[in-house]
Amino acid sequence: MRLVILGAGESGIGTAILGKKKGYDVFVSDFGKIKGNYKEVLIINEIAWEEEKHTEDLILNADVVMKSPGIPDKSPIVKKLSAKEIPVLSEIEFAAPFTDATIIGITGSNGKTTTTMLTYHLLKSAGLNVGLGGNIGKSFAWQVADNKYDSYVLELSSFQLDGIFKFKPHIAIITNISPDHLDRYDYKYENYIASKFRITMNQTEEDYLIYDADDEAITEWFKTHTTKAKLIPFSLTKTFSEGAYIKNNKMEISINQEEFTMDTAHIALEGKHNMKNAMAATSVAKLMQIRKSTIRESLSNFQGVEHRLEKVLKIQNVQYINDSKATNVNATFFALDSMNTPTVWIVGGVDKGNDYNELMSLVREKVKAIICLGVDNKKIIDVFGNVVDMMVEVSTMNDAVRMAQRLSEKGDTVLLSPACASFDLFENYEDRGNQFKQAVKNL
Ligand code: ADP
Repeated sequence: MRLVILGAGESGIGTAILGKKKGYDVFVSDFGKIKGNYKEVLIINEIAWEEEKHTEDLILNADVVMKSPGIPDKSPIVKKLSAKEIPVLSEIEFAAPFTDATIIGITGSNGKTTTTMLTYHLLKSAGLNVGLGGNIGKSFAWQVADNKYDSYVLELSSFQLDGIFKFKPHIAIITNISPDHLDRYDYKYENYIASKFRITMNQTEEDYLIYDADDEAITEWFKTHTTKAKLIPFSLTKTFSEGAYIKNNKMEISINQEEFTMDTAHIALEGKHNMKNAMAATSVAKLMQIRKSTIRESLSNFQGVEHRLEKVLKIQNVQYINDSKATNVNATFFALDSMNTPTVWIVGGVDKGNDYNELMSLVREKVKAIICLGVDNKKIIDVFGNVVDMMVEVSTMNDAVRMAQRLSEKGDTVLLSPACASFDLFENYEDRGNQFKQAVKNL
């Protein structure tokens, strides 16, 4: 069997290792340059490869192709493969049949990484032999090749889900859905929603789907579709006989006739969105039969993930918070929502079609000053120019942070939550967040 792999990133290399181990004739082709360390792995494992080209003769003779999530369906080579009816899979689809571990798959527009890390923390702290993968860290395929875990917690993007056909997680989570990546979905929101719901399409009555019952796109989907999986909704406003909810500042979870209750004040994560993430992750922990005391301890000591509402420092009684990962309006909505002091808000970057009006009432209520940090800030200025007292434009992170210090006073919060992608002024969101933290430390 000839396995061709398009794209030599983390998922491509992991699939190559697994394919080789399982006896496939493996060929890796990357249209760009392959990173040095990955190239070494290919050479050591005697796997054939090419870079900066796609040689059709070596690709179109594949029995099966694994395409990296970054390569769009409309790229010429993928079109040619489809025309020849050669199956094109994602890494998750390729690797899953080679393990009988219990799979927990987590998707959604926001909160995937936080929920995945928290779920992993809950299971790992309870002593389970669990792996962490998907969009995070080492690829799933690589771990299937090298490790023997009993369960995996996988962060799954819609691009990963587009390339699944038989893959079925025992437990699936959809954290929420809001418009994102629409350029890859013919600018049709319904296509993106359908992609997220692929996570449940192969689930059976034995499986579980945990989802945000407050989410409009999700509740609309359920009006016209079904899944065989058992449903576990979570909500901040509704209550359920089977599901998770918040009532009187307590997180209540009721699954398979078992109850779990915890005071939200004892959950280390902050903000309403994180209560949702905590409900989703704790539902998994309950399904995996983790003891209540262990769950409580883990929820009280999980400090969150870098660049997601990350507390940096308090300087002269001003709290600086790094939420650089907020690359869309929905994420920033929850960041502003969780502010409980006057806020100096650093926002801007590359806007993926934002509707800032969704933030209007929160901005009126909480924001005292706006610092625009982007190449083109026109939209932000147009929407909020008359709403806040102070608004300035800057073009470096150092200037943004120095300006924030000047505009803030004792008791305020300075929040970097850009609602935009970062690549106009930064390499990526990590670079933006790191520059913010460094600038704060330099104050
Ligand atoms: P993803 O992996 O889906 O991008 P992250 O956990 O990295 O999600 O969080 C991305 C951004 O969204 C961060 O700014 C974070 O504070 C915010 N966020 C986290 N969970 C949620 C949620 N449930 N709903 C909305 N925003 C969220």
